[in-house]
Amino acid sequence: MIRVDLHTHTNHSHARDSVRQMFEAGQRYGLAVQGFSEHSPRPEGYDYPTEYREHLAATFEGYISEVRELQAEAEDCQVLLGLEADWLEDEVPYLRGMVQAHDYDYVIAGIHFLGHWGMDSSAADWEKLSTEEKYSLYERYYGTMEKMAGTRLFQIVAHPDLVKIFSVDDFRAWLDMPGSLKLVRRALSAVKDAGMAMEISSAGLRKPCREIYPGPRILRIARELGLDITFASDSHATEQVAWSFDKLAAYAAAEGWRESMVFTREGVRRMAF
Ligand SMILES: [Zn+2]
Ligand SMILES: [Zn+2]
Repeated sequence: MIRVDLHTHTNHSHARDSVRQMFEAGQRYGLAVQGFSEHSPRPEGYDYPTEYREHLAATFEGYISEVRELQAEAEDCQVLLGLEADWLEDEVPYLRGMVQAHDYDYVIAGIHFLGHWGMDSSAADWEKLSTEEKYSLYERYYGTMEKMAGTRLFQIVAHPDLVKIFSVDDFRAWLDMPGSLKLVRRALSAVKDAGMAMEISSAGLRKPCREIYPGPRILRIARELGLDITFASDSHATEQVAWSFDKLAAYAAAEGWRESMVFTREGVRRMAF
């Protein structure tokens, strides 16, 4: 059984429930480790159609203090203070300042933006694209993942094939094209070289791609490279905490993993599942 969920959001961003409510859901499930990984403040110019920037900026310090309060209180569960930082290729100094602003247990890199475009929010954006345009975005996604890892700013790469969210059939066809798997392999090698772990996330099952992040072929490459893994629900509401973790456990175990990683300020450890 997976007893650690390192990827949960709260109502400090666009999620529905509070830090405490999310924690209580984790308790009901039986988590031994619950990591909060709220979205990061984002500079101007990187916008979503449904923007929560102002709300998050106004309330972010409250997120930090509420998680700290729980850390002090929780007895049967280790509570971790994390962050899901938007990877913004042209904003490395900004990101460096952000990850250093608090004493996080870990920072997850989420690649949601390609350039200034938040690529994971609108199916309509993707419907307008030709197959070739989609293929070049998939390439760009893995190219920027390699750059992200090279900064050594992060501990975990989130949902490592999020770019398939609205076009999973095209994405699978792209994986069959010469050179595609090589790009994926290069990106995941950079993740490994940076000492990072790769997240296996049930969120993809709730999204239009209807597939765990990452899909089976990318999971296989990660295994071949000897990558460490973490487990993630990417929950935005209490009923999503540790959601479908039985499926994630079977999926990872079938490739040979027996342990996932826990990142804390005190160090890294492995937990059997
Ligand atoms: Zn994310
Ligand atoms: Zn997330």
